[in-house]
This record gives sequence, structure tokens and C-alpha cells, in this order.
Amino acid sequence: MLPDLLLTCPFCSTPFNHQDFIIHVKKEHNFAITKLIQFHDPRYYLALLQHFGPDYLLQNAVPRESDNVLMLQHTDADLELRKMAFAYQRSVALQQLEYEMTARVSHVCFICKQNQKQVTYQQILEHYTENHRLRVGFRQSVVYIKKMLQQLEISYNELTCQYCKQVFTTQQTLKNHYRTHAHFRFAMKDTQFDCYYLDCYREFESSRQSENEDLSDDPSTNQDQEIDLEFMNIPKQYLDIFNQIPSTEPVGVENLPICLFCSHASSDLLVHMQNEHHFTFSEQLWGDFYMRIRQINFIRDKVELKTCPFCFIYNENMAEHVQEHSQERIQAVEDESYFRSRIEGDQIFDFIGEEVEELDSVVE
Ligand SMILES: [Zn+2]
Ligand SMILES: [Zn+2]
Ligand SMILES: [Zn+2]
Ligand SMILES: [Zn+2]
Ligand SMILES: [Zn+2]
Repeated sequence: MLPDLLLTCPFCSTPFNHQDFIIHVKKEHNFAITKLIQFHDPRYYLALLQHFGPDYLLQNAVPRESDNVLMLQHTDADLELRKMAFAYQRSVALQQLEYEMTARVSHVCFICKQNQKQVTYQQILEHYTENHRLRVGFRQSVVYIKKMLQQLEISYNELTCQYCKQVFTTQQTLKNHYRTHAHFRFAMKDTQFDCYYLDCYREFESSRQSENEDLSDDPSTNQDQEIDLEFMNIPKQYLDIFNQIPSTEPVGVENLPICLFCSHASSDLLVHMQNEHHFTFSEQLWGDFYMRIRQINFIRDKVELKTCPFCFIYNENMAEHVQEHSQERIQAVEDESYFRSRIEGDQIFDFIGEEVEELDSVVE
């Protein structure tokens, strides 16, 4: 299943992560909706259940022998709903693939820290396969690459081999292990990673057919041209329900905050700025909310001009140079003109809120 999905309770419309969802539905509603795992994104099926409402759920349930919890029956009608939700999910995955093959984004390799600018997700994947021997199968049959890399990055940072679960003491030994054992990949038995393989979207209840060792691009895997009858047959009123569900990832990097010193964009930007530029957002910016807004715009102006916002010296490589000032605070910026955002809807401002709120609570 795709990570970080919010699943909405069909009884009370409250969103939960997968684990909490199961617990909530059981505890609060004495109910079990089983086999959600057969979806890579169960939100479409759950939206149908929510649409039909509690009466439908209760009428179509039987008590489970083991614990007397009401369980939604796996009737033919339920199977039909599941297949429709699955077919819709397939169309979303194909759209996602299209997006990942064409959109241009920035990415810093979590292994060698190389900064790739204006590349497609497919090209990011290529970097990992060619430089770090990531084995994920045919490139054009992998989808949700960003989430996939995030999962690989987590195990890399935890010094754990995703494939054999062995734990290492340093990143270097893990890297060597990846290389010598060709373990930089997902194991077949770990079906939670099926969500990254387009093959697993083709047919309901199918899973990966092979370890996908081959790294070549195989055009035959790209059979998206076939007419998808299952999708075509989804009734309009269900399509309307499905269409309201937001995509799993913000489409387009413009929705993410962009680094002050390079073109990297991510939701954990403060960590990035700390690691890559030794810039501590909460300390090197200071003062009240408005001062910090002005300071951010001031930095953006200076960096745009390749001028250091600390020492005002011209430098081609600000991303690296700024590290020299890691112990300094940015100057006070009073000029009103620095209230104007340099990036439309600059998402980096969201981080100030958090910082200043934290400060306020410390003061109290
Ligand atoms: Zn509920
Ligand atoms: Zn790399
Ligand atoms: Zn291993
Ligand atoms: Zn950066
Ligand atoms: Zn400087």
C-alpha cells in the first residue's frame, strides 16, 4: 500500500493512517473492513462505502466468529465495487506515470548528495540505478518514484538493508553491502512495495511476477494504449466520487517549499538546509514573524544575485559558501520592500509559523 495515505472512516468521516483506521473502525464502530491491502490506494473503495453510508455497511455485514466484530461480507456486489475502485486506481497510476516521465523537478541524491536539477522522476531513478546499482526492474514500469525513494532513504538512514533486513553500523558498509550483494531493491515477499510496480495495477489481486532484475527499458511493458474496459464501465456517479479524491502526491514541485540556497524543494526543507548548507533556520533567522519574512525575501534576493547575504561577497556557489556563516545570524531587515514574496505563495513561510509558535510557547 502507498505510504502516508489518509483513510476516511466510512461511518464518521474521520481520517486516519492505515493502522489507526483499522483500530478506530473496530473500537468505535465494532466493524471490520478486511482485505484493504488488496488496494495500493484503498481510498477509492472506502469512498464508495462512505457514499452508501452506515446502513449499507450494517445490512451487508455478518458477525465474525473469532471476536463477534461485524465484518463486511465479500459478496459479488462487494467484489464489483472493489474491481471498480481498482480500475480507477489503475487509471490514476497511469496518469502518475505520465507525470513522472514528463514533469521537471529537482532532487538531491540521498547517497552521493548530487543535486539534479530540472530532471524527470525517471531520470532521478536512472541516477540511482546507474550510480548506486538500485534494482527496480524496467524503469518505465515503476511509478510513485518519489515515495519509493523516500522509503529507500528511510532504510538507508536507519542503516538497514531493505532487501535482507540486515543492520549495519555505517552508511559505508551498507553501501558496500548493496554493491556486493546487489541488495539495493525490494524483496518479492515484501508485497507492501507492490504499489510501486505498474504491473500490480493491471489486474485485481495480482502481485509482482518476478524480482525484476533487468534494468533495461523494455517498451513492451508500456502497454497503456489498450482500452481499459473495466475503467470505461465505471458508472458516472461513482466516477464523480472517485474524482473528488485528491492525488496522493502534490502534482508539481511548485507546491513544495524551495531551499533558500539551491533549487531543492521538499517538505522537510529545514533538515535539507541544515545538512546541505549548515543553515539553521530557527537560529540564523530571528526576530518576530515579520522580521523573518523580510529576512527570507532578503536572502532570496541576494542569492539570486549570487551575493552572500552574510558577507555580501559575490560567489558562484552560494550553496557551499553559505556554510562558512553557520554561526552567524542574518542582519536585521527593516525595509518594507522585503515584505513582497520573491516566490509566489512561498511555502517556506509556513516554517516560520512553526518556529515562532514554538518560541511563543517557550516564553509563556
Ligand atoms: Zn469512525
Ligand atoms: Zn547518487
Ligand atoms: Zn541485504
Ligand atoms: Zn538547498
Ligand atoms: Zn559569505
